[in-house]
Amino acid sequence: MNNFHKSKFKFIRIPELEKNGGVIHAFSTRHSFNMAFNGHDNQEEILKNRIVFGEAIGIGAREIVTVKQIHGEQVITLKERNINIDCIRSKEGDAIITNLRGLPIAVLTADCLPILLIDLYRRAIAVVHAGRIGTYLRIVRKTAKEMKNTFDILSKDLLIGIGPGIGGCCYELDERGIQPFREETSYYDDFIDRRGKNRYLLDLAGANERQLLELGVLSKNIFSTRLCTACDTENFFSHRAVRGEDKRMMGLIMLSEFAEL
Ligand SMILES: [Zn+2]
Repeated sequence: MNNFHKSKFKFIRIPELEKNGGVIHAFSTRHSFNMAFNGHDNQEEILKNRIVFGEAIGIGAREIVTVKQIHGEQVITLKERNINIDCIRSKEGDAIITNLRGLPIAVLTADCLPILLIDLYRRAIAVVHAGRIGTYLRIVRKTAKEMKNTFDILSKDLLIGIGPGIGGCCYELDERGIQPFREETSYYDDFIDRRGKNRYLLDLAGANERQLLELGVLSKNIFSTRLCTACDTENFFSHRAVRGEDKRMMGLIMLSEFAEL
């Protein structure tokens, strides 16, 4: 299912998301370099990396909208054409929704999951940053609901793309970390693997899929790369697997400007 594009700046696409031509999307890798402004790399370098990535995936040198991610549940909705991208960048949030064509929206991750939501019929898209806390707060579900409220999307029409993130193979949590999920045992049971005293493995992608299915998203419309960032540090940044890692990858989506949808 995954396409590991072998350009100089390797990125990943889920072909099923683009077969109707309504959106352009991609997940960057370590080879696209750092995409986050809040690390140690200087701002100009980051802007350059973002432009090179944008050109590699076919959106050109346009500015990419990101927000200040805080592991919360705030959803930012963009529907006015004349937005100030610098201003949006300072807003706190962990999901972005838009119906604006040609506006690339993105989240930054290095183990957390980048999740894309698309309704091609009502022309609305979203991008979500879901780590342990975001998943517990059910941010993906909240984002889909917000898309319903604002753009009348239907769950059954949503296409979902789940990018690379830490897998159930590597995401180890202690008793304290897993506790909130264990309180909802029947809900998350299938995604928690007890490996011994004070040692659990959590399948973040599975837990997010569960939330989407519950909302009425069809399983045939959920496409997950199932690529683990901690297993493959040659290709991905991993906050957990590489001590002190402050670089981030980007999960990006944009409504095409000229699609007949
Ligand atoms: Zn792994």
